[in-house]
Amino acid sequence: MKERRRSVESRGPLPTARSILGNADVVLICKACDRSVDADLPVIIAGGHGDLPLIELKWRCAMCQSTKVTMVVSGARIGRKDA
Ligand SMILES: [Zn+2]
Repeated sequence: MKERRRSVESRGPLPTARSILGNADVVLICKACDRSVDADLPVIIAGGHGDLPLIELKWRCAMCQSTKVTMVVSGARIGRKDA
């Protein structure tokens, strides 16, 4: 609670589709058409990108094909040990 800085780099392994599946939801928000969709993690894994950090994946809106997509991880329990 003392530290408010969010340093993604120094927080251990970055979440990947495989590590996050079943632990959290990944919501994609398209800035172009203002839609939000759940990312299809099994599809990403099946496509061979399951071990890439999520922030390195190139997301694309399924509706308008825009790449101006923001990724939000919700309900994450990754990296938290406060039980
Ligand atoms: Zn869109």
